[in-house]
Amino acid sequence: MLVILGRAVSLVVLTRNCSLFCKRSAIRRCRVFVSGLLSVGVLLMTFEAGTQEMCTAGHEHDEEEETLQSLRVAAQVPVSWRAPQQAFREARAQKGEDDNLRIKLLAINDFHGQLSTGRLVSSRPVGGAAVLAAYLNAAQAGMEDRTFIVHAGDHVGATPPASALLQDEPSISFLNLLANKHCTYRRPNDQKCNLVGTLGNHEFDEGKDELLRLLDGGNHPTGPFLENPYRGAKFPYVCANAVRTADQEPLIDPYVVKKIKGVQIAFIGAVLRQTPTIVTPTGVAGITFLDEAEAINRYVAQLKANGVRTIVVLIHQGGRQTTYQGPTQIGASVVNGPDIQDIVTRLDDEVDVVVSGHAHSFTNALLKNQNGKEILLTQAFSASTAYADIKLEIDHKSRDVVAKSASIITTFADIAPGLTPDPKVAQLVTQAEQTVAPLVNEVIGQAAIDIVQAENSAGESTLGNLIADSQRAAVQADFAFMNPGGIRTDILAGEVTWGELFAVQPFGNSLVKMNLTGQQVYDLLNQQWAPPQQFPRILKTSGLTYPWDNNRPVNDRIVEVRKGDIPLDRGATYSVVVNSFIAAGGDNFTVLLQGTNQVGGPVDLDALVDYIESLPQPFTAAIEGRITRLN
Ligand SMILES: [Zn+2]
Ligand SMILES: [Zn+2]
Repeated sequence: MLVILGRAVSLVVLTRNCSLFCKRSAIRRCRVFVSGLLSVGVLLMTFEAGTQEMCTAGHEHDEEEETLQSLRVAAQVPVSWRAPQQAFREARAQKGEDDNLRIKLLAINDFHGQLSTGRLVSSRPVGGAAVLAAYLNAAQAGMEDRTFIVHAGDHVGATPPASALLQDEPSISFLNLLANKHCTYRRPNDQKCNLVGTLGNHEFDEGKDELLRLLDGGNHPTGPFLENPYRGAKFPYVCANAVRTADQEPLIDPYVVKKIKGVQIAFIGAVLRQTPTIVTPTGVAGITFLDEAEAINRYVAQLKANGVRTIVVLIHQGGRQTTYQGPTQIGASVVNGPDIQDIVTRLDDEVDVVVSGHAHSFTNALLKNQNGKEILLTQAFSASTAYADIKLEIDHKSRDVVAKSASIITTFADIAPGLTPDPKVAQLVTQAEQTVAPLVNEVIGQAAIDIVQAENSAGESTLGNLIADSQRAAVQADFAFMNPGGIRTDILAGEVTWGELFAVQPFGNSLVKMNLTGQQVYDLLNQQWAPPQQFPRILKTSGLTYPWDNNRPVNDRIVEVRKGDIPLDRGATYSVVVNSFIAAGGDNFTVLLQGTNQVGGPVDLDALVDYIESLPQPFTAAIEGRITRLN
């Protein structure tokens, strides 16, 4: 009975509680992931870091939705628009006088280093960089000189090992392989270079210096290296609204202008202005994120003054499109995403296309801005499983777009052109997988049981206990606190490899040891519910126990905290370990900003690996009543 009641409650909560929503998805992902072990022995991780970012931002996000065949079919339905005055041109076209310039944009977003194969859509293989490349090659066949490949951010960051263990350099090299001869390391901004990217929140994960190194080249302090020396991106990145706090100048170029047959086409980049709320604060230190629409419009005005009329926005922000059946529904109502709707509404009339991302979902719709101008908005799921095929017709005289259409194509690997993966890209992926394989396949321990992130009603989980214990052991602190969103998938019974542990803790956060008073420990735990927390975030703990009372106010739910059998002395000082994300106030745990004597520790993953290796095998973890719930 209790179970049934609990389920009913959790269903209600599910619609409001992103945390639970994500966990549910993560468990399903894990199953897909296990069924996707790769022949070359490299473990394929299909975890989705985007889940955390979306949840943190309070959006609805369901990874499972991405694998639905019905949604993929809906995404492929073309959306098209034609300028009203085109009617007479149509007539001319029939007489063979149509001289409109026809170009293509092939758009991806949220690649997240998915070089390897292993993803599935309704049990069919999709994507991997080489398959995606085969689709992009086929889509531009015959018009290679009039096609641009663009991406809307999160190309790197939160990536599987083949990319992550090589500092995400192979993900940039992958795009370099798609670049035409006009893209060069020395002059990536050539007007005929066929590639443009923008920044997502994950590009900031390791801070701006590492981001700029990844784009501009230069070796990372540690290897292994695939490309040595590493030369960076052969193509430009653009972002209009990430500015240096010191002088308000854009961190990278806000836009680039391309030219085809005398017609200029501008690409303006932007990243969601909420980036600082979802990236480790040190990652965005010194950078201010401006309102996206205002920043974009500022440069639209400049471009218009220079005679540019065809303007494409690449933005790392987006929504989800309502699933629908039957004919395409055109209009704002089909896109669920208040942030992107608000941005598009405020965009200048001169913007023709917005390539979006971040939601890991699909969008293919015409959204009206505040003046009624219909702007084509696309998004192509994530992780190499789809691309947007966008066609533009540009009038030579007005230099503006007179017709536009798009379709979101899933990159199935079991049909053409996916049956013939791009050989150069395939070679790069194989090299990357082989280079990281020894690290990935190393067996770290034997799990006696499934050790899972699913929480009991109090908020305790077996995997949370294991991770918190590993962190406390790593720096010998009194207590450890681990944020639930940083635990990405379960550990399954049996052999546990480094790669599987990487999937559990993929963010590479370092540990931070600090001192808190007993009172601050109470305050920290009360922040699990208190505003601005949008849903409960129960930290996984080690070294202490406490009951919380659901009938008490959200800022006073902790009944009593004990270390062993002894209640905490609110005036005494205790040593605490957390990861660098929450140490910097992430997930709204601002009490940690008051911690004194802060000292950095090992990377969280290393702490987990070392701890598991130190345990008697097979190892296990249990719900121990560290957290109990009253009412
Ligand atoms: Zn993403
Ligand atoms: Zn993102």
